[in-house]
Amino acid sequence: MRTIHLAALPGDGIGKEVMVEALELLSLIEKYDHTINVEIEAFNWNSEFYLKHNKMMPDNGLETLSAYDAILFGAIGDKRVPDYISIWEFIMPIRKQFKQYINFRPIKQLKGINSPLCNSRDIDFTIIRENAEGEYSNIGGSLFDKTNDELAVQNSVMTRKGIKDVTTFAFEYATDKGLSKVTSATKSNAIIHSMRLWDKIVQEVADEYKDIKLNSFYIDALAALFVQKPDTFEVIVASNLFGDILSDLGSALVGGLGISPSANINPTGEYPSMFEPVHGSAPDIVGKGMANPIAQFWSTALMLEHFGRADISKQILHAIESSIVAGKTTPDLGGTLTTKEVSNEVFTRMF
Ligand code: NAD
Ligand code: MN
Repeated sequence: MRTIHLAALPGDGIGKEVMVEALELLSLIEKYDHTINVEIEAFNWNSEFYLKHNKMMPDNGLETLSAYDAILFGAIGDKRVPDYISIWEFIMPIRKQFKQYINFRPIKQLKGINSPLCNSRDIDFTIIRENAEGEYSNIGGSLFDKTNDELAVQNSVMTRKGIKDVTTFAFEYATDKGLSKVTSATKSNAIIHSMRLWDKIVQEVADEYKDIKLNSFYIDALAALFVQKPDTFEVIVASNLFGDILSDLGSALVGGLGISPSANINPTGEYPSMFEPVHGSAPDIVGKGMANPIAQFWSTALMLEHFGRADISKQILHAIESSIVAGKTTPDLGGTLTTKEVSNEVFTRMF
């Protein structure tokens, strides 16, 4: 029997509300399926912790997490702590230290969900976002002196290795799934240093995969195509910033943030990977029982799939779809149920 040692980081706001339900889901899975065992330890490192200790996690936080097989994350963000602190002192160090250079985001239209796009048919594609370098760098400088001379320079760092690794992951994924094309998001006409390197390396990798076609689009045109022809995509490979924006757009095409999952993957398995919903801490609905737990459930499903349990992952997805088809949803999907009620609907359909 496989034991997965899991670190749970509920974080702030609705992160805590949806994590409770995901942990309940895991304990039910264990109870009914004797081929899997998940040992969970939860850590209350969040904005509250920051307000007490002036840091988002203990000094040995990353070392502590490195002992686990995986991390299940809720969401972080609290108006008393600047967002750049919760991002740069918590999420970014985890992604970077654990070389989670793949951000894997399925965009899949579930049964029972109407896309806001009236022409949409079967939307089912995956965004593979570079997650460790690129535009999200803390290299640069700024002069904030309230004069007319104020300025800021922000550097983007792209490396042959970084681009090659993410593109190879995308092509390998397409190969595994028997798909026929990979779409690259670029902007090499305007961002002429980093994005031309991106194009060059992406093409080099594509040349190794004769059976898979590479399509390349400028990011602005690609955003338009997401709306006009979302059912034509299979796998999209994108830099950190472009992938971030495309994944929220993609998520909106298939039901919104309440259902969208993501995985931050360390493909070598040397470090733990981290699974988290795309959404944030949603301060506008916290404490109201309105948070949709599906994004967290689906992220948990991706975690189980990562450990070779595609069977349980499929079961979770079926239970989610069946609840949605039955109209058992939270307000973001047009329903009237609470977080707990939706969770119970999903659990009942699983077991
Ligand atoms: P958000 O995702 O928290 O909320 C955006 C909108 O979507 C809100 O109206 C919210 O109510 C709704 N929403 C989000 N998740 C939902 C769910 N599960 N069910 C129902 N509705 C849901 O984004 P934001 O408002 O831009 O940011 C709020 C805070 O979250 C900020 O502090 C931000 O920095 C942080 N944030 C954290 C992460 C992360 O932890 N990875 C990601 C994004 C934002
Ligand atoms: Mn984002």
